[in-house]
Amino acid sequence: MYHAVRPIEAVSPSPYIIGPEQFSQQMEWLAEKNYQVVSFTTAWETLHSGRPLLPKVIVLSFDDGCRDNLTYAAPIVRRYGFAPIVFLCPDLFGHSEGNYRDFHAHSPLLTRDETFELIQAGWEIGGHTRRHPRLVKLRTREELDDEVGGCRVAIQDLLGYDAKFFAYPFGQFNAVVKQSVVRHGYQAACTTLNGFNTARTDRFELRRIVIRAEDDLREFHRKVQGAYDWLGYFKLRSLEKKIQRQARNASVSELR
Ligand SMILES: [Zn+2]
Repeated sequence: MYHAVRPIEAVSPSPYIIGPEQFSQQMEWLAEKNYQVVSFTTAWETLHSGRPLLPKVIVLSFDDGCRDNLTYAAPIVRRYGFAPIVFLCPDLFGHSEGNYRDFHAHSPLLTRDETFELIQAGWEIGGHTRRHPRLVKLRTREELDDEVGGCRVAIQDLLGYDAKFFAYPFGQFNAVVKQSVVRHGYQAACTTLNGFNTARTDRFELRRIVIRAEDDLREFHRKVQGAYDWLGYFKLRSLEKKIQRQARNASVSELR
């Protein structure tokens, strides 16, 4: 999971802004070590076809739709023939830095035309809500459906693109949020839970490996090779308990 890739000073202003050189070294390492870097759709279809997934399959994802994905990341991944997915917010197309505060990495965002360029370059598009709210904080089902379902509709209207996959802003979700994502026809959703995915992973709770600015190449190797997968395990356990509790509470309140 990436957010922004662009030139940085000695110290990155955010763990989610990675320098182009650093990003390029990571891509080069994946290619050298024969990782199969495939599109989200390819990985997804293989995972659910019953066919065995090749070992070392990687999907590159970018959250938020920062403009630097086109200017810096796209030329680098093109060298290796990699096709990432970018999860974006269609209501924020073209917003400049400063117009919003709720992102991990403050960056100018892609315009609609720039998003087209990414699609032409082979990138996939996923939904990330219309305006990047904290979905678990929304008060009504209308607001939730507007952000989740409205995002898919807007991507279809603005780009003529059928967004099949979703990523929860800030990685935050609960049973109600998850149901909204299911209801609006997305096929799968990404969390920020750390770890790998198998055919048994809940498809609306897909895990990712967060790559941060402070990760040197050795740390990147460790992450990709699964050094931190146990984090995903424990986070998932506690989250599952929480969701079960919420589902129980929801069904109790429905009975009332
Ligand atoms: Zn985000």
